[in-house]
Amino acid sequence: MNNNNSKQAFQEAQKAIPGGVNSPVRAFKSVGIDPIFIKKAKGTTVWDIDDNEYTDFVASWGPLILGHAHDDVVKAVTDAASLGTSYGAPTLIETEMAEQIVKMMPSIEKVRMVNSGTEATMSAIRLARGYTNRELIIKFAGCYHGHGDSFLIKAGSGAITLGLPDSPGVTKSTAKDTLTADYNNLDSVQELFDQHKDEIAAVIVEPVAGNMGVVPPADGFLEGLRKMTKDNGALLIFDEVITGFRLAKGGAQEYYNVMPDLTTLGKIIGGGLPVGAYGGSAEIMDMLAPIGPVYQAGTLSGNPLAMAAGLTALKKLDETPNAYEELEKKAQFVEEGLKLNAQELGLNVVLNRVGSMMTAFFTDSEQVASFDEAMSSDTSKYADYFKGMVENGLYIAPSQFECLFISMAHTEKDLEKLIKGNRKALEAIK
Ligand code: PMP
Repeated sequence: MNNNNSKQAFQEAQKAIPGGVNSPVRAFKSVGIDPIFIKKAKGTTVWDIDDNEYTDFVASWGPLILGHAHDDVVKAVTDAASLGTSYGAPTLIETEMAEQIVKMMPSIEKVRMVNSGTEATMSAIRLARGYTNRELIIKFAGCYHGHGDSFLIKAGSGAITLGLPDSPGVTKSTAKDTLTADYNNLDSVQELFDQHKDEIAAVIVEPVAGNMGVVPPADGFLEGLRKMTKDNGALLIFDEVITGFRLAKGGAQEYYNVMPDLTTLGKIIGGGLPVGAYGGSAEIMDMLAPIGPVYQAGTLSGNPLAMAAGLTALKKLDETPNAYEELEKKAQFVEEGLKLNAQELGLNVVLNRVGSMMTAFFTDSEQVASFDEAMSSDTSKYADYFKGMVENGLYIAPSQFECLFISMAHTEKDLEKLIKGNRKALEAIK
């Protein structure tokens, strides 16, 4: 495979951009090859600047559930752009977007748009603190909630991939307000509530962990968090930046039928443009300025291009009959194929899947139901596997601690290519 142009582009980029990238995992550091520079994408195919072609299972890290450059999304964005790209004033499409989210997400009565998942989670914990008049929050080791200071404590995703779970630059006083518990371990949460009576504003959780690789919630875990937060006067925040509109129209809260007080959204909600949102009951959301005292704002929040892309994507998901059943079927087909490959080759792989998000962990552990079990994975094996996948024209996340995403655009041929390529990549590392 020729990747001379990407190699040269990376050299050039590093002169003007720290590490050559605008988000760390893109540098492919943990997989030991130079990053691929993308030129264009359509449907499930991406092309790099050396004209190599890949079938994509990264989906821009989750947003592209309709595939790349979906015709309706492209039209909505270009139509909107021709009318002006930003006004910083109310527009009709913002109300339409809010109504669409309220319709789809069962626990949301009111919603505020922001520009990223990071902004959504930062704002949600400020609101939770303002509402409860308490300061501490609980997060789970290995969960990632964006790069807000309060969340770079035992953080997942790129932070574990690069061995940086606790970032310098986060002050001690900020760090002490974030308590960490163990995912799928309710006792570890109860202990914190016992130690910090009436001090905890909120528990924030990825209802399906995706940023330590996919780790589903154990039976009763989300229900237990719901009860514990309620009993202790704290809010429950579901960070549905990945799971929102991916597992069901109403995200993980619908999928597991557990209702949080606040929900953070991102990725799919922007249809590939930079968008985030947070919402909850009217009572809590009305604590926000301009009617309440909790301040949060944004020059480009509710941006017309972003709203046009996001609303088009959400409507498509809402209106396509059996969209989630189809995704489930495709993802199940992939799961079975990947499991069979590993089994037939005698490789120890644990495959975790919830709906259209999955991770194959290279581990000798029987299961991956906790952060520690996820961390038992052989990341150097993953790096070799990743290289094999790329050589077979398959673009997957350059890290063990991320998800593989199936989209509505994936065809049977794409999925068969994935399973065949997976077989070849596994054979090569055996
Ligand atoms: N929360 C979760 C669960 C995420 O997966 C991410 C991003 N991967 C974020 C928050 C942050 O979103 P963004 O990168 O848009 O700031």
